[in-house]
Amino acid sequence: MQNSIESLQKEFTLELQQVHTTGDLEQLKVKYLGKKGPVQDLMKTLKDVAPENRPAAGKLINDLKEKLAGEIGQLEENLIKKEVGRKLEEEAVDVTLPGHRRHIGRKHPLTQAMDQIIHILEGMGFSVQYGPDIDSDYYNYGALNFPEEHPARDMQDTFYIAPHILLRSHTSNIQARVMEANSPPIRIIAPGKVYRNETITARSHVFFHQVEALYIDKNVTFADLMATLNEFLSKLFDQEIATRFRPSYFPFVEPGMEVDVACVLCKGKGCSICKHSGWLEIAGAGMIHPEVLRNGGIDPEVYTGFAWGLGLERLVIMLRGIQDIRQFTENDLRFLRQFTR
Ligand SMILES: [Zn+2]
Repeated sequence: MQNSIESLQKEFTLELQQVHTTGDLEQLKVKYLGKKGPVQDLMKTLKDVAPENRPAAGKLINDLKEKLAGEIGQLEENLIKKEVGRKLEEEAVDVTLPGHRRHIGRKHPLTQAMDQIIHILEGMGFSVQYGPDIDSDYYNYGALNFPEEHPARDMQDTFYIAPHILLRSHTSNIQARVMEANSPPIRIIAPGKVYRNETITARSHVFFHQVEALYIDKNVTFADLMATLNEFLSKLFDQEIATRFRPSYFPFVEPGMEVDVACVLCKGKGCSICKHSGWLEIAGAGMIHPEVLRNGGIDPEVYTGFAWGLGLERLVIMLRGIQDIRQFTENDLRFLRQFTR
C-alpha cells in the first residue's frame, strides 16, 4: 500500500508539472481523483487489508487524496490568475490611440431639398399625395386636356412602355385621381420623379423631380396662385425673392404661366447658371382648365383652382450653385459629401 501511494504520488507530480491550462488541470483532476481514478481504486483495496491495519491504511489514502486535491487547488488558483491577466492584457484598450473616423450617411441634396419643400408646403396647409410612376396616357394626358395630337404626347418626349402605358412625364398625373376621390376644398402637393425622352446634357436629363401643387375651392383666383407661390418661395429661399410670371401655354391650365425667380447667385445681374438673364425658370403654373375639373367630376361653374409644377433639380442647381445636372445621378461621393445640409 505504502509503495503504491508513493509511486502514484510521483506519477502525479510529474504530470502536474506538464499542466499549463485550467482545462488540462480539470482533466488531471478527473484522472486522479475521479470515481474511476487510482485513488478510488486504492479505497477499494481497503477491504483486503487486515482489519487492524485498516484505519492506518485508510488515513494514508485520505492524506494522499487531500494532498493531491491541495496541489490541484493551488495550481488552479495560479493558472486562473495567469489566464485572467493574459485576457486583460489582450483586451486592453490604448485610449491614447487616435480613433477611427466614421463616415455618417446623409441625405442626397435632392432629397434634402424635397424634404424642405414638403415641410414648408405642409406648413401652408397642403397635404402630400403620391401617384404612380407608371401610368396610363389617360391620367398623364387625356384627363389633363391634352389633345390626341398634342406634340408632348409624341414618342420624342414620352417613354411609352406599352400601348397607352407610359412613364409619367409630369407629376400632374395625380390631379384627376385626387379630384375623382375627393370633393373640394382640395389642397395637395404631389412630389415625385418624372421621365422625358430627352438627350442627357448638363441642363437636361431623362428623369428629374417635380412637386405638383393643386388647390381647388370656391373663389380661388390667380391672385391666390401668385400669393401662395411668392410666400412659398420666400420661405424656401429664406428671403423676399422677386418672381416673374410669363404667359405660357399648358393644355391643363387657362391661363397658363411660366414662373421665373430672380437668380439668387448673381442677384439678377446675370451669370452662367441663369444664362446671363438674371432669371431662372422654376415652375409652370396656371388656373386649372374647366375641362380638367370636369374630367375630375368637379363643377367648374362652382369651383376654381390653381396648379403648379415645380422643377426640383433647377431649384437645387440654383440654391447650391451646381453646374451640371448629371452630377445628381453619378453617385460621386466627392460631390455628395459637400451637402451636409
Ligand atoms: Zn444668375
